[in-house]
Amino acid sequence: MPNKQHERIHSDDRNLCQLCMSELGGIYADLGLTMDELDLLDMPRRSFTVHFPVRMDSGKTKMFVGYRIQYNDARGPTKGGIRFHPELTIDDVRDLAFLMVLKCAVVNIPFGGAKGGVVVNPKNLSRNELEQVTRGYIRAIGQFIGPDKDIPAPDVYTDEKIMIWILDEYERIRGRHVPAVVTGKPYDLFGIKARSYSTSLGGIYVLEEAMKKVGMDSSRARVAIQGFGNVGSNAAKILHDKGYPVVAVSDSRGGIISEDGLNIPEAMKHKDRTGSLRDFPGSRNITNGELLVCDCDILIPAALSGQLTADNAEEVRARIVLELANAPTTTDADEVFFKKKVMLIPDIIANAGGVVVSYFEWSQNLNNDYWEEEKVLQKLRNIMITAFNDVHGLCHVESCRMRRAAYQLAVERILHAEKLRGNL
Ligand code: GLU
Repeated sequence: MPNKQHERIHSDDRNLCQLCMSELGGIYADLGLTMDELDLLDMPRRSFTVHFPVRMDSGKTKMFVGYRIQYNDARGPTKGGIRFHPELTIDDVRDLAFLMVLKCAVVNIPFGGAKGGVVVNPKNLSRNELEQVTRGYIRAIGQFIGPDKDIPAPDVYTDEKIMIWILDEYERIRGRHVPAVVTGKPYDLFGIKARSYSTSLGGIYVLEEAMKKVGMDSSRARVAIQGFGNVGSNAAKILHDKGYPVVAVSDSRGGIISEDGLNIPEAMKHKDRTGSLRDFPGSRNITNGELLVCDCDILIPAALSGQLTADNAEEVRARIVLELANAPTTTDADEVFFKKKVMLIPDIIANAGGVVVSYFEWSQNLNNDYWEEEKVLQKLRNIMITAFNDVHGLCHVESCRMRRAAYQLAVERILHAEKLRGNL
């Protein structure tokens, strides 16, 4: 019979995403956490909803709504991206902020977790309006952020240009330079080398460690990647350059496959020229659904959430799934993979390379000490591999799914910090 904690975490009024809920429900039951511990993790520490005016190009003023949720800061200042999306809700922001808390804890960097955003479709704004929305949002939340409080970063539909507007607006408010207030800045202005491909490379470091554990040979391991945005295309390019046969890739319009391996640099040029990967010479067109179940050894979902479900997980042929997207696998599919002995490397480790490099960027800005690319990569590799081995070791001890182990490790670290602070 489920205990009280277990019921609580599964109740309908919980807003955390279904995946977090079921994972945490299991952990509460297995670890026998107390109600106090559950309460402490259950609620965000600070949650802001702001409404701010923006003078549009037409001369008219329009009100926008923005959010910032600082979920937990026991392990350090809160950290997490800002997304601009027309369908953003405060519930999405809370779920994503909670995932950031777990992500920072599992890779053991000294941050809590946050997320924020503005309800807006950036495609409908001029460049000037985009800048004014960004600046208006920062004026609204400016007193609540800072290098030792809460540090934003890019997320869906926000980029380095927006990060610099954030920096500039914050510095105008403070009246001094504060480069560590935001990460994901351009390299030429307080940014860091390797930023653009840090999420993909961090995932690949973990992947190669996982391959050693299952005895997979990198020169023959065939890779399929769903998603050809920044993360998916960089992963394809890095793996191709390392000599892996990348047999299938896709974007939102569909995918391409070639059993002998695709020429990824040429496929990138083809996409730049035609706007899509389809009809790339020497390959066959496939759907996004077909890509997930194609004949490959490593599957990398790097696009949307909820792609691997109970409906297709049985048919997946890969032996390793590396979740570069956030939440691409449903709970049911997770179970199927575990039974089939497919090694699933969960998102909170697999795609943590971005926030790890954000940590380096913040640290460089605070110390005014800028590192060579080699040092950035070396430190990224160490952190990613240590996190993977911590979680993999726990899987062996507990004989559980890797996602469960990653959540468990993160929750234990967060609660330990709360205990040391005297909050528990
Ligand atoms: N938005 C990214 C993430 O969700 C980066 C966050 C950061 O660097 O703070 O991991």
